[in-house]
Amino acid sequence: MNDPRRALPSVHVLLEQDGVRALAERVPRGVVADAVRAAVGAARAAPEGAPMSSAAWVADITARLASSERPTLQPVLNATGVVLHTNLGRAPLAAAAINAIADVARGFSSLEYDLTTGTRGSRHVHCAALLRELTGAEDALVVNNCAAALVLALNTVADGKEAVVSRGELVEIGGSFRVPDIMARSGARLVEVGTTNRTHADDFRRALSPRTGAIVAVHRSNFTVEGFVAAVPLRDLAALADGAGVPLLHDFGSGLLLDLAPWGLHGEPTARDAVATGASLVMMSGDKLLGGPQAGIILGRAALVDALRRNPLARALRVDKLTLAALHATLQLYREPARAVREVPALAMLTVAVDVLRARADALVALLAARGVTARVMASEATVGGGAFPSARIPSCALALAGDATRHDRALRDGALPVVGRIADGTLLLDLRGIPHAEDARLAAAMCEACAP
Ligand SMILES: *Cc1c(COP(=O)(O)O)cnc(C)c1O
Repeated sequence: MNDPRRALPSVHVLLEQDGVRALAERVPRGVVADAVRAAVGAARAAPEGAPMSSAAWVADITARLASSERPTLQPVLNATGVVLHTNLGRAPLAAAAINAIADVARGFSSLEYDLTTGTRGSRHVHCAALLRELTGAEDALVVNNCAAALVLALNTVADGKEAVVSRGELVEIGGSFRVPDIMARSGARLVEVGTTNRTHADDFRRALSPRTGAIVAVHRSNFTVEGFVAAVPLRDLAALADGAGVPLLHDFGSGLLLDLAPWGLHGEPTARDAVATGASLVMMSGDKLLGGPQAGIILGRAALVDALRRNPLARALRVDKLTLAALHATLQLYREPARAVREVPALAMLTVAVDVLRARADALVALLAARGVTARVMASEATVGGGAFPSARIPSCALALAGDATRHDRALRDGALPVVGRIADGTLLLDLRGIPHAEDARLAAAMCEACAP
């Protein structure tokens, strides 16, 4: 019998093929050789699927090379209907923020240099004034993300002491953020009070002792509880903490800076509300409803924020200049709320009228039909995502692509500009709420590419 392995060409022979030599003119030879070895290895493992002709070998090697050159971190179109999708990078940045990043990235900057005095400055000054202005906080500090903010705050005020928290708030926010685990790592000893559904002021009162370092309140970002429930209002918790002489740390999360009730999104407090309830420190993310870069923003009492800044951990959790540039530019847009709603992409996407989405969907369906792709317009419901407005359903509009949903879904994810949609009842739905109008042409092109036979 023939051993199919004998039929495989050697790496050396393949490297001498014209098509493969052409690749080596563009890409380092070692990289091409790796692709050739991978092709031969795959053929050896699955001889029945091995390329037969020399053209097929070249095509296989070219494809392997292309995929090894393609970054794993790629831009995608978010057609999931979840606007702030943590797996898809949360908030897209405003043009002003992108420009600010480019400006600062290109050369040197005044990151830690005081241009007035010509001496060493602090990176902590760059966003603090705007954050104070926009939230009413006495002072502000920016770190890597909200999880880092919580660790830094707890470590500063409650290392080796007790942190009292309601059992109803020991929650998991994202795949890797569990409040009890994060709290334990900060050096604070967790003291749980109340029950999953009900916690009363007396539960907190009984837990307070000279060992208490902080009371912690965690915003229920990504879920709601209904029925026989009770929680202590933040204002009362702040008074309780004040009376006991310990800080109240409020893990607030969303970073919402504007009331979105005029657009039908009710029930989430703004950062200004959170600060006004009297928590000593309020912690939130930069890349959720604030619509900026990944960051953890700490707002609160000046003396406490200063203590956090002086904690050596702050050095390990600090943000870089690109983040500060983007955050500053994003915050600046909020000085004019109407401008923020227009120019912060997350806000623009959440507030655009469904009629506008429907008109875009109609135009896309006609455009696709002209190119032989069948889709229809479907009413849909989008969600905010990113741990905010957990029960809000925003009227939206989707393209339903005719044909094999699983195959199209895969092809769309494999395309030059990957599109991530969702399959419902066997139909692939591409929700337009998370797709900027300016991307419609590229969405259509991606759909045509995916549907090509
Ligand atoms: C999202 C969220 C976090 C985690 O924020 P990251 O910026 O992802 O670290 C923590 N707490 C709450 C309440 C949140 O909503």
